[in-house]
Amino acid sequence: MIVFDETIEKSRFYDPNENEYIKEKITIRNDPLTRKSCRILDKPLPISRDVDIDQEIIGGFCPFCPDKIEDIGARDCQVLNNELLERGDAVLLSNISPYAKRSLVIRLTEEHYLPLGRFKERHFTDALSLVTKYVERSSDDKYATVMMNYLKPAGSSIVHPHIQFLMSDEPMDYQNRIIKAGREYYEKHHSNYWRDLLEEERDRKRYIGKIGVCEWKTPFAPRGLEHIQGISLENFSSMKRKSLKNISTGIVNTLEYYADQDLNSFNLSILIPPKGDIKRFATVIDIVARSALDKYYWCDVFALSKLQDEAYSNKYPEDIAKEARAFFG
Ligand SMILES: [Zn+2]
Repeated sequence: MIVFDETIEKSRFYDPNENEYIKEKITIRNDPLTRKSCRILDKPLPISRDVDIDQEIIGGFCPFCPDKIEDIGARDCQVLNNELLERGDAVLLSNISPYAKRSLVIRLTEEHYLPLGRFKERHFTDALSLVTKYVERSSDDKYATVMMNYLKPAGSSIVHPHIQFLMSDEPMDYQNRIIKAGREYYEKHHSNYWRDLLEEERDRKRYIGKIGVCEWKTPFAPRGLEHIQGISLENFSSMKRKSLKNISTGIVNTLEYYADQDLNSFNLSILIPPKGDIKRFATVIDIVARSALDKYYWCDVFALSKLQDEAYSNKYPEDIAKEARAFFG
């Protein structure tokens, strides 16, 4: 029922420095559900390894540091009546740049900056438990999404680790396509796409491992660099702490893998199934690395992905899974 199809293109050019002809293989794959295409090359990108980020991470005004957050953090007046929700280091605030009618931000750590290898499972478990608590208290979670941007290459204007949580009456573009495609798949096959996908992937080279309610793998057609995906057939909105811990362990393992690859920046998003519809959907956690922050860093989003809406990866998902597996042991 699930088709993994790819086409191969070959490129050839003359290198006068070496006086030789070079051949490069480009693998073009489509996501089995959405058909979104991706180009995969086996060629390193110009990502900094020995980075200079001291100026970026030290100093400056920060609304999330412990001495400022209580006085400056914007309060949610729609559901929480100006109350601050806190758990461990996590603090839930209102987002002052809202992209939906309910737009929240959750400070993740007391530390202003953490290298990727130093995030702890409890940081994410506490933050995600504030999200589920907020959902519980809000009556309208029609389209809910959790997202995280870490450091400037990932689009974050603030260094201090934080996640974003949006609830809207209208789905975002990707969410809309996934929901439509997931429903169509269910109507056609009378089966949950993500359940079938996990069954297909367990014996394949892209499978990484299982942590409680969540299974981790690399997608057949990645949407970015070092794309790692967690899938849980439990609905995020009703997850208790134990399940949130499972998800958070997988996130932290992924970040440890990125740190080992000298990467320091990433994006994360959690697809939350529409309310009451877990039968046809799954909780999906997508994490992609971004080019490493450095004084003069290279941006990995160029016209191909920004305007042509084409994903790319410089490594094969099968190779990424093999490397990442060591951090999920
Ligand atoms: Zn800070």
